[in-house]
Amino acid sequence: MTLSSVTAGTLTSPAPLTPLTPLKPRLRIGLIANRSHQDAAGSALVQLFRRAEASLRALQPEWVVVGRTLDAIHSHGLGHLCEPHIRFPYGREGGLMKLVAHVVNSAPQNSVDAVVYLIDPVDPSSVFPEALALKRQCVIHGKPFLSTLASVCEWLELEALTMGSTTHLSSGRGFALPQESIALIAHDAMKQKMLKLAEKHFALLDQFEHRYATGTTGSLLNQLAQRMKGEEAGRNWVQPFLSGPMGGDAQIAELVLEQKIRRILFLEDPHVARQHEADIQLLERAARTVTDFALVVSDVDGSDRWLQLMSQRLALSTS
Ligand code: PGA
Repeated sequence: MTLSSVTAGTLTSPAPLTPLTPLKPRLRIGLIANRSHQDAAGSALVQLFRRAEASLRALQPEWVVVGRTLDAIHSHGLGHLCEPHIRFPYGREGGLMKLVAHVVNSAPQNSVDAVVYLIDPVDPSSVFPEALALKRQCVIHGKPFLSTLASVCEWLELEALTMGSTTHLSSGRGFALPQESIALIAHDAMKQKMLKLAEKHFALLDQFEHRYATGTTGSLLNQLAQRMKGEEAGRNWVQPFLSGPMGGDAQIAELVLEQKIRRILFLEDPHVARQHEADIQLLERAARTVTDFALVVSDVDGSDRWLQLMSQRLALSTS
């Protein structure tokens, strides 16, 4: 992609961000956790309900929970935080497959608005076709797919802001942006959308200590930054790694594993087969390896909403 193809038209100042309204009056959230995230007293499943308790009180979601995950919630005495709920069959009886259908369905009584799937990357069931389809259909239908503990807790906290709640706000781990890094990656068909997103949320993204990207995405973002900030100041706004197909995703994954990059905005094109699919999976698996730290957002609307709510959250903590 050339510079001229991304700079057609002049850049205008981004419109001021207006507070967002709830996605739905009452969210319905699909929930499943891999076995190693279920049973221990300090498992990711237990931590989710403990840490997000105040956000859940503000949001009052309905739950659709796959069998064994629901058994674990009850055995930990957390059932009261997961009400009301619909019980789906055990995974081996098709619970995860049913959840995919409920991502795709449009009838409200038959669908979910978001999916929490606490993934253990070394659990073989996390790469079953239905597990991959669950993520892909969430991206296609613009529904949040939350596969790390950090992503669920942050998403619930941000969405609870739209209910007018501020009493649920956490101590702010991860919101001191001058000490935080973010990765920005876009597949070819999504690069224009990434540029629009970066322009709209430039002021927020500019606050991060470091921005990293895969090669082509990074050089386009640096061209945008030069237009926004001036040639000199914008030149190294993003640190580009190698292009995705040449291993850039793996280079970013290493920084995620070292807990140097917490947030990854990866605008995926779910309609195209990619020769470096393994590298893309590797990056997602890296985030899940440090589940308590990292989060990935994979669709355009979800990223826009996430960044907008982050701006709202930061404005509250500084006012
Ligand atoms: P690119 O890589 O930014 O170098 O195009 C993105 C990808 O395809 O993973």
